[in-house]
Amino acid sequence: MHKTIIFFLVMSMNIHSNTLLDATSLSKDLYPQTILNGNYEDNIDNPSQFLDFNYGDRVASPEQITDALNKWSKQSNKLKVVEYAKTHEGRPLHAVFISSPENLNNLDKIKNKISELSDARNTSDREATQIIETLPAVAWMAYSIHGNETSGGDAALGLIYHLIANQDKHILNMLDEMIIIIDPLMNPDGRARFAKNLEQYRGTAPNYDDQSLLHTGDWPYGRTNHYYFDLNRDWLYLTQPETQGRVALINQWRPQILVDGHEMGPQDTFMTGPPREPINKNIDKDLIKWGNVFAQDQASAFDENNWRFYTGEWHEDLYPGYSFYVQFRGTLGILYEQSRMAEDGVKRPEGTIQSYKESVHHQFVSTLANLETLLDNSKSIYQDYWDGRKYNISKDSIYADTSFVVLPTNNKGRLNTLATKLKAQDIEIYQNDKPINSSNVLRQNGDIEKDFVIPAGSMIIPNRQPEAPLISAILEFDADINESVLIKERQKRLRNGSSIMYDTTAFNFTMMYGLPAITVPVNISSNLKPWAPSSVTYDVTEDAVMWAVDGDDDRSVAFAARLMEQDVQVRVIDKQSILSNHNLSRGSITVIKMDNPQYKDLLTVVRKAAEDLGISIVSIESGFGAEDLPDWGGRHFRLLNKPQIAILSHEGFNSYDVGTSWWSLDHHLGIRHSQLNSALISYGDLRRYNTIILPSGTPDINNYSKEILINWVKQGGTLIANNRSTRLLASDNEFGDVKLLQQTFEDAKSYNIDLMREIYSLDNNLNKNDVNSNRVNFEINYPWESSDKTYTKDQLEMRDKWQSLLMPSGSMVSARSDQQHWLTFGTEDLIPILYANNPILMTGGNSEAPIRIGELIQNDEAAESRMINWSQVPKGYDLNVRMSGLVWPEASQRIANSAYLTREKIGKGQIILFSGEPNFRGSARGTNRLWLNAVIYGSGLGTNTLVTQ
Ligand SMILES: [Zn+2]
Repeated sequence: MHKTIIFFLVMSMNIHSNTLLDATSLSKDLYPQTILNGNYEDNIDNPSQFLDFNYGDRVASPEQITDALNKWSKQSNKLKVVEYAKTHEGRPLHAVFISSPENLNNLDKIKNKISELSDARNTSDREATQIIETLPAVAWMAYSIHGNETSGGDAALGLIYHLIANQDKHILNMLDEMIIIIDPLMNPDGRARFAKNLEQYRGTAPNYDDQSLLHTGDWPYGRTNHYYFDLNRDWLYLTQPETQGRVALINQWRPQILVDGHEMGPQDTFMTGPPREPINKNIDKDLIKWGNVFAQDQASAFDENNWRFYTGEWHEDLYPGYSFYVQFRGTLGILYEQSRMAEDGVKRPEGTIQSYKESVHHQFVSTLANLETLLDNSKSIYQDYWDGRKYNISKDSIYADTSFVVLPTNNKGRLNTLATKLKAQDIEIYQNDKPINSSNVLRQNGDIEKDFVIPAGSMIIPNRQPEAPLISAILEFDADINESVLIKERQKRLRNGSSIMYDTTAFNFTMMYGLPAITVPVNISSNLKPWAPSSVTYDVTEDAVMWAVDGDDDRSVAFAARLMEQDVQVRVIDKQSILSNHNLSRGSITVIKMDNPQYKDLLTVVRKAAEDLGISIVSIESGFGAEDLPDWGGRHFRLLNKPQIAILSHEGFNSYDVGTSWWSLDHHLGIRHSQLNSALISYGDLRRYNTIILPSGTPDINNYSKEILINWVKQGGTLIANNRSTRLLASDNEFGDVKLLQQTFEDAKSYNIDLMREIYSLDNNLNKNDVNSNRVNFEINYPWESSDKTYTKDQLEMRDKWQSLLMPSGSMVSARSDQQHWLTFGTEDLIPILYANNPILMTGGNSEAPIRIGELIQNDEAAESRMINWSQVPKGYDLNVRMSGLVWPEASQRIANSAYLTREKIGKGQIILFSGEPNFRGSARGTNRLWLNAVIYGSGLGTNTLVTQ
């Protein structure tokens, strides 16, 4: 197999030799230094033997690296290769354990000792000292998580060889003292995609222009994995197989350092840690100290070679979902960012050409420098680690008196997923059988509630346990950011619109998941039992008139989708109901026997759909709902229509948003759908689809295609758009009445009146005597007349311009949901929304806003209604906007009362717009549910019912 591959590649590269001229110079001659310069054993194959070029000259493919690992496993007893996962495309992921044969024979023992050192509840100081004395150092060196950042993977290939074949005494000693775990390429699918690009765009002469396709590659580029996920944002959310497998293994080994080798812009140099502020407050100070020690040694190694480098600068560390999640577990994370040379090298402003081989060499030397530093300091680092582990469970720690509580929910599917993610990080979770009284608790919206009763069946996570810092980092409602950072950030924003925040500033799990939670200022430790998923029942009996699953559970959407795909007629009950003593939430899904008279094996198919999803199903014997509860023949039992889904894709679209949308269909639903090149709108047959998704992007949709799309909607289509595509549609009058905020200042008053109608339509207060008075009332209080002031168009424009400089940085804002709208099935009144520089949507005319920014809070002391820009907060209310992360007060004002989700009927069809990216990182589960409702229920609930002849 291996030989065949080489033969094929050699053939394909020499194919030009008959028809093209030779290049006048070759890139392989640019960098004369030898990377592999040790005294190596002859019986171990040199890396070049697995490649069709000299080691370091070009990018090794995932297959070539796998071949080398397989061969070396047979040739050497100094490495052990562990396959820890397979990618979506079936490629293996490897952790290569390198050490002395003796250590490799004792891996399980060593691992157990590390576990003992990690749990200070069961280990004494004396035992810890003994363990530290005998433990080898453990290093995890990982590369190329972004597939087109290739040099790390090539360095890893050389490093493995350098360590296992070397006869040098120092290296042999190193292997006696250390376990070096090398993860050569963390994203083989992305690397394979980029390697293919290199093959496709390779010409005769070397190309040093970093703008050429050879260097950039094609959409969707090699950075991400199969579903275009950035794997270096997934270390906490754990949505992808690469991360799931890797984190499980890293968490067993608890390495002392974790190196993460990346690449950055080609005109840059080399960057490493330690990071600059903002740094997450849960990171142990000892690690920051050690980060400086490693950086110092690495800097010396670079100085020696005359290589330029820097530390910190843009490298911040607030978001805990990078590879540096390990820092919350006591491991030092070290980042490498090597300027990106693709394969031929890159021409730089000073006139030099930096070769690919040199970039590999930088990663190689950095790695060896870090290993040396670890070798010298391992015992002290272990001692600090042990002190940290003791602190985490101490009653004097900052974590001692806090517990996080996720309140009970019918959304079992989502809750179970949360539990899985927490358990994967060794976090201990519990539940209570009896209510627990608490004198005060912190709610997600920032309110403190006194005398709160924590209901039985809550999920309870005491912060005081071995993984305390990680628990705090991912469950605390707000990550603390230094005031000096805020000042600097604000200055930058106002000066030139730039930012020092590198990723989202809000990320806590419960808000991302849209699960109501509280923080309790005590260590809840008694009357708890380990958390377990609630039991599931599949009750599908023959004599029932229908079967139903609960609509609060996200999996109910998949249940409906998968049955419709099999041509079962399915209904949704759009109002809470009780049938045959079964409580069914709004949005519950039911299959009625009489709707499917001809269907063979209906029972089997229905039961299997529930079993495949693990969702409970009940049998219902009577369609009678008592009093005004829905009955099965009434209008609340709404027939769904089988969605036929297309996602527009390719150039112009944001690959992340395309990817998470695509992944959501495959992961949550598992039903058929088509990804279409958006150019196809103009010539394809759109009648095949009744639901078209436009992920975020700036696709080039010409006027002709636009007409086709609009007509398709009018004929009954459901068009769903996210973020930037939403901006595109909202700014175009032909796509309905939803507008961008900036377009509405002229008519601000009428938008406010619409908003007041919406708010007062939920008002429960009424004075019957006033209503029934026969005299004309001269004292009627019209909402718009009670406001203290209004702003002119000019004033609104000026405010908006200023406020637009200070938009949220991937933060959580609160939103209120219309509990009568089908798009909000499975959604609480208050829903946290991840918000950045999103289009700000205004609904008017025919359009609806099922989700609006801001939580209305009753406040009897607010005696006057108050104006925020175009809108009013009526008397008796306050408005909450910020929930977590950096939301400037100006931003809160700007987005207050705007729509996050809109829906508008157009002809026989509809347009549904999301202001942000509802499926963000596969983990914004709260908003993902809204999107799933739109995709699966849209065609049935929001468009005219189709009767076929
Ligand atoms: Zn990277």
